Amino acid sequence: MNVGVVGGGVVGATTALALAEAGAQVTVIESETSLFARSSAAGFGSLTPFSDPFFAGAARDFAARSVSLYRTHWIPRASEALGRAVDFGDEGLLDLFADDGQVVDGVKRLHDELVAAGYPARILDRRGTQQLEPALEGEFAGSLWMDEPWLDVQQYFAGITAWLHSSPAVTVRCGIAVEEVAVNANRVAVRLSGGLIETFDCVVVATGLSSRRVRLPFEPQLAWVRGDAIEVRTLDSVPLLKRHVYHKTAFITPRTDGRLLLGATYDVENLEPAELDRVKRDTIAAGQALELLEANARVVPRIRGCDIVRMWRGWRPKPIDAMPIIGPVGGGQIVIATGFIGLGITMAPAAAQALTRLVMHGDGSHVPAEFSPSRFSL
Ligand SMILES: Cc1cc2nc3c(=O)[nH]c(=O)nc-3n(C[C@H](O)[C@H](O)[C@H](O)COP(=O)(O)OP(=O)(O)OC[C@H]3O[C@@H](n4cnc5c(N)ncnc54)[C@H](O)[C@@H]3O)c2cc1C
Repeated sequence: MNVGVVGGGVVGATTALALAEAGAQVTVIESETSLFARSSAAGFGSLTPFSDPFFAGAARDFAARSVSLYRTHWIPRASEALGRAVDFGDEGLLDLFADDGQVVDGVKRLHDELVAAGYPARILDRRGTQQLEPALEGEFAGSLWMDEPWLDVQQYFAGITAWLHSSPAVTVRCGIAVEEVAVNANRVAVRLSGGLIETFDCVVVATGLSSRRVRLPFEPQLAWVRGDAIEVRTLDSVPLLKRHVYHKTAFITPRTDGRLLLGATYDVENLEPAELDRVKRDTIAAGQALELLEANARVVPRIRGCDIVRMWRGWRPKPIDAMPIIGPVGGGQIVIATGFIGLGITMAPAAAQALTRLVMHGDGSHVPAEFSPSRFSL
C-alpha cells in the first residue's frame, strides 16, 4: 500500500515508521525545511498519561499504552538508529501537593482511581518525597508519585530522523506544503504548493496546528494553547533531579547532564493559522520569564544558581472538547490525527499504532470513541 503522511511532527513521523514496519510504502510531506519544527520542537518529553488534567477512562488507557510502547519499542529502536541510548528517565513523576484538606482529598481520589485501574501510584509525605529528590524545598506537604517517565526529545527526534532516512520504505520530503487532500476516483489526490498533484492509496493528515491550511473533507477547529519554557543547566552539569516534578504552576523535567526544562504556561489564545509564523518566537516575554523562574525556584531553590541555556514558546493544538481527533474523514482513505494538546509526544506511539491498523486493515478498534472525528457530526 502506498501511503502519504502530511506533517512531519512527532505524530506524523511516528506514524510513518509504524506504517513502514507494517509493510506500507510511505511518503512524508512536511512544509518546514526539517522534521519536528513546530509544536513537537517545543515539547519537554514528559510522558504523562496520569497527571494530565483532561484525561480519564479510555483516553487515559490509550495514553498509558503509548508509554508502554515507548518502553518496549520506540526508545530501543530510536536508540539503535541514533547509535547511543536515548536518555530515558523511568523513575516516575512527583506531583507535589499543599497541606490543604481539599487538595489532599483530590490527590487521594486520583491515587485510588489509578490503583483501582491497575496503574502504580503512591502517596508520599514530605520526608519521603525529599528522600527521593533532596533538591526539593518550598511549601508542600507531600507528593503523589505516578508511573510517568520522561525522554530527551532532542536525542529521540534525532534517532527517529535517522531511522526515517535509513528506511527503504520511507521517503521524506521537507519544504513542500500540502494545500488540499481529496478522494478522486478511488485514489487520494494531494495537491502540493506549486500545483503538483500526487496520488496515494491512503493519506494520513497529521498537521498539528497547521500554519498552512490544508483543504480537507473535514477541517478541525483548534484553539491554541501557549506554552512558555526556559531551559537551565547546573554549573557543574550534575543533575539536581532524577524525576520530573509538578507543583501548581511549576513543572520541571530533568535531563541527565544537569539541564532542567522549566515550564510551562497553559494559556489559550484564539488565532488564525496564518498568524502562526508571526507569533513563532524563540524567546518569551520578560514578565513571563520572571514568573516562570520564580514559580520553579520556589520548589527547587538551587535553580537560582543555574545558567540559562535557552527560552522558547510553543503552541499546543486543542480541540473544543480537549480530546484528540483520530479517524477517517474521507470515506476511510483520508485519516486525520491532530489535536493532541499537551500530550502529543506521550500519545504518538499509540496514535501511530491505531492509525496503522486503520489504514492497513480498516480496523478502528484501537481508537477510543471519544477521539472519533464523527463526534463533530461530519
Ligand atoms: C511548551 C510545550 C511543552 C510540551 N511538552 C510536552 C510534553 O512534555 N509531553 C507531551 O506529550 N507533549 C508536550 N507538548 C505537546 C506536544 O508538543 C504536541 O502535542 C505535539 O508536538 C503535537 O504533535 P503533532 O505532530 O500533532 O504536531 P506538530 O509537531 O505541529 O507537527 C505537525 C507538522 O505538520 C506540518 N504541517 C502543517 N501544515 C502542513 C501542510 N499544509 N503541509 C505539510 N506539512 C504541514 C508542520 O510544519 C508540523 O511540522 C508540549 C507543548 C508545548 C508547547
